[in-house]
Amino acid sequence: MSDETTYLMIPGPVDAEDDVLEAMSHRVLPHYGGPWLEIYNQAVDGLRQVFGTEGDLFLMTGPGTAGLEAALGSLAYTGEKVLVAQNGFFGQRLGTVARAYGLDVRTVEAPLGELIDPQAIKRRLAAEPDIQAVVVVHLETSTGVLNPVQEIAAITGEAGVPIIVDAVSSLGGVPLRVDDWGLDVCVSVINKCLGCPPGIAPISVSERAWAQIERKGDRNHGWYLNLGVWKQYARDWGDWHPYPTSMPTNNVLALLASLRRILAQGLEAQYERHARAAAQVRQTLNAWGFTSFAPEAHSSPLITAVYPPPGVDIEDLRRYLLAKRQIMVSGGLQDLRGKIMRVGHIGKAASDEYVQRLLEGIEAYLRLSPPRSG
Ligand SMILES: *Cc1c(COP(=O)(O)O)cnc(C)c1O
Repeated sequence: MSDETTYLMIPGPVDAEDDVLEAMSHRVLPHYGGPWLEIYNQAVDGLRQVFGTEGDLFLMTGPGTAGLEAALGSLAYTGEKVLVAQNGFFGQRLGTVARAYGLDVRTVEAPLGELIDPQAIKRRLAAEPDIQAVVVVHLETSTGVLNPVQEIAAITGEAGVPIIVDAVSSLGGVPLRVDDWGLDVCVSVINKCLGCPPGIAPISVSERAWAQIERKGDRNHGWYLNLGVWKQYARDWGDWHPYPTSMPTNNVLALLASLRRILAQGLEAQYERHARAAAQVRQTLNAWGFTSFAPEAHSSPLITAVYPPPGVDIEDLRRYLLAKRQIMVSGGLQDLRGKIMRVGHIGKAASDEYVQRLLEGIEAYLRLSPPRSG
């Protein structure tokens, strides 16, 4: 592993600030007992502010997918219906995960780059009242599209069906309010907008979700990824070990460092910083002949997905940026492979330093390999 810096401008993981890296190298602490619980509770309280919830919130060890599996497996049991909104790779993945849990997956789809239509969800819930949960990706990281989660949650709330939100790539970078919007289970990770190394998937759970989980009794899935088990430990072991297993204590320390910095600056300042980075990147790339993959009105300010100008090989540009400028950006997934570039201006990368470095690199490449004119 070379020590040379690579500037991560991918949609996660992201580069960590020094306070986070220092926390990661703290001596190892036991994951239970009074002094530790104080640290844990501070991290959970900080996250509650970012999620906008006063409800239950857990730190699940694992990738975001662990939290999403816990949500699906806890709210529905084998054979039951869930409605999964799909307009990209991560929505499709959620369908695959749900099927792996033996769930009967129904879908509402929109083409890549388009938004999920809340009215389509409303019609499906009216037609199929036995749907147990609606599953929606907030920021569809494969295209940069930000789905209208607040509007969809208003519809699921009216229908009394819990909504599971994959906010893995959006939380902390764009506004999201769990309680105000009525999000029943909201899943994120600490290695995207929260700027930490991977390791923890925070997950919030509403009263409506608990009521449904309790109705399922012991017929829902698994143990570690079963939210009912997490609630039981929070209740029975709350004064010393409020979770079922060991906790990655260094990741929690890192998260706390990051949350302190983020909350000291304020969430609004975070959202503005990301929006500014997106505007800079997009205006400049558009002026150079790149075209946005999705309409601006559908796009989040966290990821810029663009087609190259005519005659520019996007994979060659990506290789150049990495080899000559030490900047890593992402390409397209699945059908979009080799066609688009995805730039993550998330966390530390949502800064003038990263944005300027990227734009200088792209400018230099375009001088070497100019676009076809006309
Ligand atoms: C990154 C991402 C995931 C997967 O997260 P893991 O931590 O790799 O499990 C899921 N959904 C979205 C929208 C993502 O951006």
